Amino acid sequence: MYSKKYVLKAKREIAEDIFSLKLAPEEGEGIPYTPGQFMLLTLESGVKRAYSIASAPGKGELEFAIKNVGGEFTSNLPKLKEGDKIGVDGPLGPLAYDTCNEFVLIAGGVGITPMLSILRDRDGKEECANATLFYSARTKAGLAYFEELVEIDSRNSNLKSVFTLTREKPDGWKYETGHVDAAMLRKYLTDFSKKKYFVCGPMRMVDSFREILLKELGVPEENCTFEGWNV
Ligand SMILES: Cc1cc2nc3c(=O)[nH]c(=O)nc-3n(C[C@H](O)[C@H](O)[C@H](O)COP(=O)(O)OP(=O)(O)OC[C@H]3O[C@@H](n4cnc5c(N)ncnc54)[C@H](O)[C@@H]3O)c2cc1C
Repeated sequence: MYSKKYVLKAKREIAEDIFSLKLAPEEGEGIPYTPGQFMLLTLESGVKRAYSIASAPGKGELEFAIKNVGGEFTSNLPKLKEGDKIGVDGPLGPLAYDTCNEFVLIAGGVGITPMLSILRDRDGKEECANATLFYSARTKAGLAYFEELVEIDSRNSNLKSVFTLTREKPDGWKYETGHVDAAMLRKYLTDFSKKKYFVCGPMRMVDSFREILLKELGVPEENCTFEGWNV
């Protein structure tokens, strides 16, 4: 576990109430990590929270995507500015990410962050086993990194991405609508028990996938990683 000061290099609102933060080490090398891991971020006020890493390893910089839920940490997001110092402790985690196994990523809202790190990392690696991403948000404006994910999907034949909106169907929307449920999983997947599953997003959504995967679809628990957050 490392502990290091980073400097905020860039902040951008990438989706409704979701800010991406790009951090670079104040000095020296960045903290090493693997896709799917998370760090503890500490603001200058001392408030500390866990955030999944959205960037892929190897660049020294770290990227996070954080939803402003108006809490102790996130209410500071609008005020943060380039040059601010942020403490980083980690890495912690890891999600059981293994490129040799066929895997299914199921993300709700800002839960896309650890998945994005994985997808950026395997982008262009044809040797990786097939993967399927299910990514849901209420509205198109809430789908963080949507354009980048569409591009990654289009250049990787070993990836299938399913996007779904639960509260709207904008003109020209060519993907799914409604919640990801057992019927939607069945539409795109077969051989459920042979795959690995990573589910990440709001606690309630993650709990519902415990039921769907373990009870309805009979997936062995050891094939599943569930990460639920209070967002
Ligand atoms: C491993 C891990 C990885 C994570 N990765 C991410 C990530 O990539 N992106 C991300 O956005 N989040 C992530 N989270 C969640 C994150 O750690 C925080 O929990 C989240 O950002 C909220 O922090 P906060 O300090 O703003 O809210 P807190 O102050 O801790 O409040 C928690 C919740 O309570 C609500 N609340 C606070 N005060 C009140 C009040 N007075 N009345 C009613 N409700 C209130 C808030 O709205 C919030 O929903 C992750 C969590 C874990 C455990």
